[in-house]
Amino acid sequence: MFIVDWDGTLYNTYQFVQDIYAVFEDAGVSHADAEETMKAAIFLGDKLHYDYSFERQLEALKQKGYTLKHDEVLVSLEELFETDYTMDGAVEFLKTLRTYGQPVNILTAGNEVFQKKKIHSTALHKYVDDVVCVPGDKQKYVGEVKESGPVFFINDKPFENDDVKRAHPDVHVIEMYNPHKIVGKGEAREHVPVCKTYQEILDYVREHYKK
Ligand SMILES: [Mg+2]
Repeated sequence: MFIVDWDGTLYNTYQFVQDIYAVFEDAGVSHADAEETMKAAIFLGDKLHYDYSFERQLEALKQKGYTLKHDEVLVSLEELFETDYTMDGAVEFLKTLRTYGQPVNILTAGNEVFQKKKIHSTALHKYVDDVVCVPGDKQKYVGEVKESGPVFFINDKPFENDDVKRAHPDVHVIEMYNPHKIVGKGEAREHVPVCKTYQEILDYVREHYKK
């Protein structure tokens, strides 16, 4: 099975986030406060669980003293789902993974409603077998599915990758290098190859895939 992360791996979350900041700045929010409340809205107090939604960020801004017209700002934010933030080459990448004849699943952690809006704003879900959304702890899901055969886990976030590799040394964890990560900037590590392109990931899979 191939388990492929969503944000920063298939979806240009960096650009999406910049565009969210721009909507808030148009509404009068400072860039610093937009960034700070983004982080406040993402995290649930533990680094492996996330729960971002526009509503949570609006609430965080309200608590900072902003009196935004939530309905109007929400309309502009929801319009972002009309833009396709698919990363260049992502469709071909998924299509190539599928040639192995194994399930290819998207695995994402976060607010399921919000994550699925992002996922369905692109065509990528058509090229996978399943879209799985968990609140966090990706390694738990990996543990549940790995019984059925070899697993390749492809993800941009270093500490999640470490978590999965630690729990499941037999899983092929491949790190998609993401220079824009808003959390979890990390170093390349032993046992987790870091790839800068989809082609490098596909080369690694070809070398390590055993029938
Ligand atoms: Mg990610």
